[in-house]
Amino acid sequence: MISDYSSPRPDHFQLRLRDPAEKPNKINSKVILQEKNQKKEEKFNKKFILCKTCNHKITSKEESISVSNSHQHTFANPAGILFDIGCFKSAPGCQNTGPFTAEFSWFKGFKWRISICESCFTHLGWVFLSSTNHTFFGLILDRLIDSNP
Ligand SMILES: [Zn+2]
Repeated sequence: MISDYSSPRPDHFQLRLRDPAEKPNKINSKVILQEKNQKKEEKFNKKFILCKTCNHKITSKEESISVSNSHQHTFANPAGILFDIGCFKSAPGCQNTGPFTAEFSWFKGFKWRISICESCFTHLGWVFLSSTNHTFFGLILDRLIDSNP
């Protein structure tokens, strides 16, 4: 009991009686910690892909996938408008709207329906669905921005 009681005390005193000359070290370690946190934040922010219109989080780089051997595809819709799309496994920031259709599908064997930003309702792309219930998102790349460009 006595040794338990007495042993932490010298440490306490040492902390309190620390030479003021050691202060710069303390400040340095604080700065390093701040830098560490900043780097962590940058890493965290980089992950997300946002709606260009409203900055809502749509998906993340980690969700990026290749479909038909490429992440990025350029397609024209029946009206001749070109879209550069990137493929993503999921897009939690999207809201899907309308019924699935196989008409003019850009990916063989997939039906599609429209995906919009769930925050500002900008049309961001399409969600594709296979007959085996496999889904992915094709999102219009110039309507998205990286959270940390
Ligand atoms: Zn939006």
